[in-house]
Amino acid sequence: MNYYSLNKKSSNVTFKEALIKGLAPDKGLYFPEKINKLSESFIANINNYSNEEIAYECIHQFIGSEIPESDLRKIITDVLSFDFPLTKLNDQISFLELFHGPTMAFKDVGARFMARCLAYFLKNQDEKKSVTVLVATSGDTGGAVASGFYKVKGIKVVILYPKGKVSNVQEKQLTTLGENITALEVDGTFDDCQAMVKKAFLDKDLLNNINLTSANSINIARWLPQMFYFFFSYRDFKLSHSDKIAFSVPSGNFGNLCAGMMAKEMGLPINKFIASNNINDVVNRYLKTKIYDAKPSIQTISNAMDVGDPSNFVRIINIYKNNFNLIKNNLHTCSFTDDETVEGIKELINKFNYIPDPHGAVGFLGVKDFIESNPNYKCIILETAHPAKFSEVINLYTDNLVVPDQISSVINKKKKSVEIDGFLAFKNFLLYS
Ligand SMILES: *Cc1c(COP(=O)(O)O)cnc(C)c1O
Repeated sequence: MNYYSLNKKSSNVTFKEALIKGLAPDKGLYFPEKINKLSESFIANINNYSNEEIAYECIHQFIGSEIPESDLRKIITDVLSFDFPLTKLNDQISFLELFHGPTMAFKDVGARFMARCLAYFLKNQDEKKSVTVLVATSGDTGGAVASGFYKVKGIKVVILYPKGKVSNVQEKQLTTLGENITALEVDGTFDDCQAMVKKAFLDKDLLNNINLTSANSINIARWLPQMFYFFFSYRDFKLSHSDKIAFSVPSGNFGNLCAGMMAKEMGLPINKFIASNNINDVVNRYLKTKIYDAKPSIQTISNAMDVGDPSNFVRIINIYKNNFNLIKNNLHTCSFTDDETVEGIKELINKFNYIPDPHGAVGFLGVKDFIESNPNYKCIILETAHPAKFSEVINLYTDNLVVPDQISSVINKKKKSVEIDGFLAFKNFLLYS
């Protein structure tokens, strides 16, 4: 399968090239040239398929012959080594828990898939030069990438994070692995980290001496596998024929939501998407006013969604052929303040006996808003992270939060990081260490 740039000024590339480049030279996001629908009988008989079989059906057309079937099936089995359970709140609403992977956020799926595809291509490459993956993180991405690429041969990972601005658990997930993973601590903001990564990709010394790639969330190899669990949960919900289904997706950069829309394009009968946002709500305002007015991000308690100008929204526009009404028919949008999010957390704990994380609570509020005017829909909320990752918030409202092994095992490990002061220090680190 080939991919084109949504800016339409760069030439089309293979899956491998799109995976390694991340962004096209014209700065556009890559998009598959073609989306083939899955067969109707596959969807009708989805109950008979395992997670691994569903994932293979979904993804193989986007890779084509670049990875042979047996290798791709091995990659998928390895990526999906944890559960994706549905937890019922009542007959109408369920949470799809995407936090059972190694770093307890849905980003594990995309990061693990990308790492294994990259490792596959490196294995078959003659030159023995290793690849350096750069990633800037505001929290969850870095941990998922670190874990996904940990001990993968031929790949070094360098993560930049803003000193003092990620949670304790998130910092430990970035800084305690060692081996091929290095965490650089930057005295600045996430934007400063991101700017240094972008500058590295324009630096001739670096480009001439190191094979650089990025594990940014817009990478097709992180984005596409996120459609898998829309299929898994559709299967597990056991809908009856007359049921209509909506997915509520707590959204920041809109990658997860846009992967759900790809699942629908491939034939999964999803009737509606709900983009549940915190007060960083540019898409919600756009669908209400037709004016796209990006703003700097504002900090909230659901911080993985603090995005002022979501990078994947251009992919959504592309899926719906730039047709405003088509987007509006498919997508219900809503936004909530931190006070409202806290009310959602309390309601879930006290009324439903379910401990959510702040992002999942926003997803729940989105469903409540949606079913007011659509009472006969069944709804699945993507619970994007484990509540223990946000214990600073959640422990204020319950004493029953249990810290799982994935988190307790890193929390007492010793942090190892390198403090980096400015771009030159970063560059020297990449060239000489
Ligand atoms: C990254 C993240 C999100 C936002 O996902 P997008 O694909 O960027 O919309 C939501 N919740 C959590 C916990 C995340 O880590």
